[in-house]
Amino acid sequence: MSSKDWIEKDYYAVLGVAKTAPADEIKKAYRKLARESHPDHNPGDSKAEERFKAVSEAYAVLGDDAKRREYDEMRSLFGSGAFRRGARQAGQPGGGVPFDVSDLFGGAPAGGGRFAGGGISDLFSSFFSGGAGGGGTTGGAPGPARGRDVETEVVLDFHDAVRGVTLPLTLRAPGVCDTCHGNGAKPGTQPRTCQVCHGAGVTTRNQGAFSFSEPCRNCQGVGTVVDEKCPECQGTGGVTKTRTLNVRFPAGVGDGQRIRLAGRGEPGERGGPAGDLFVHVKVRPDEIFGRSGDDLTLTVPITFAEAVLGTDLRVPTLDGAVTLRVPAGTPSGRILRARGKGVSRRDGQVGDLLVTLEVVVPARVSDEARAALETFVAQTPPAAREHLDARVRRFD
Ligand SMILES: [Zn+2]
Ligand SMILES: [Zn+2]
Repeated sequence: MSSKDWIEKDYYAVLGVAKTAPADEIKKAYRKLARESHPDHNPGDSKAEERFKAVSEAYAVLGDDAKRREYDEMRSLFGSGAFRRGARQAGQPGGGVPFDVSDLFGGAPAGGGRFAGGGISDLFSSFFSGGAGGGGTTGGAPGPARGRDVETEVVLDFHDAVRGVTLPLTLRAPGVCDTCHGNGAKPGTQPRTCQVCHGAGVTTRNQGAFSFSEPCRNCQGVGTVVDEKCPECQGTGGVTKTRTLNVRFPAGVGDGQRIRLAGRGEPGERGGPAGDLFVHVKVRPDEIFGRSGDDLTLTVPITFAEAVLGTDLRVPTLDGAVTLRVPAGTPSGRILRARGKGVSRRDGQVGDLLVTLEVVVPARVSDEARAALETFVAQTPPAAREHLDARVRRFD
């Protein structure tokens, strides 16, 4: 018995029991079927003989706890046709789009999405059990499924981030090709069953005592082959769909912030609600202004004389200019505040413009300036450094 048999044969169906049936129920079903189809009771009936063999084969696996577990695992990996689902059923709700890892990871962390809430192993078990398409392989029709969350990034101009802006965002997401409805075949043609794997999507390779199942190379695990490719999607059945949304970025949005737009993600399936759109905001730095929360920051160079004598400074704001009074005797590094010239907040409050004064020292001065400075020094007490001198004397 090869793993290919396990993949292809549904032993539960052969015995007419549910996948979840307890061992004694399986035993009972087997006994009944074996009795009915036993060659002794059906002499010369080849169909009954085949049936008896199939029933025995099924019970040999399902009647043994360890084998049954192994069988279930293998079936959940391959037997549900996980490799086939994507392409074959892409046109139907629940079929899903071709598997795309980047898409998967993009959608995962936002929470509430199709794959959200689980780790990698959850993601993959959900994929292999056929959950990737949103539909189960057993039971009735799948219920409504919430649309996937979508994440995207946008880079805002500094000014736009401070004042708020509405921008069109173009989102790209994989979708089903409208021309071929996902089967990849040119309109008017049909995909045909793969002759290598006979539609199973998997092939079995024997190597010594072992046999390996792998996705069919002829049809890439799809189970069908397209002779004339759909011109729209080049036979893949999937296309990248773009949609454009106008997104309002509130005034004061900051670099690294994430904005959630409820219901603006991918549409739900079978009546389920749409997912959310998460926009990661990056803010391009400005050449002169910085930001500290709701305050704008600006550094303004002044001369030593301006700091000593005082002056009026004309400084730019984000969309205008203001005059700031620098009082006589202002130390280097002092911060002046222009009220209400910062970032507006949603609650109506507005931050300030914080202006840092920085005394600049000329690298060279004229002879006249030097002479004037020497006169200045003669008229001025030295800087207060006694507290440092005490320490220095310890080493002199
Ligand atoms: Zn094939
Ligand atoms: Zn197509």
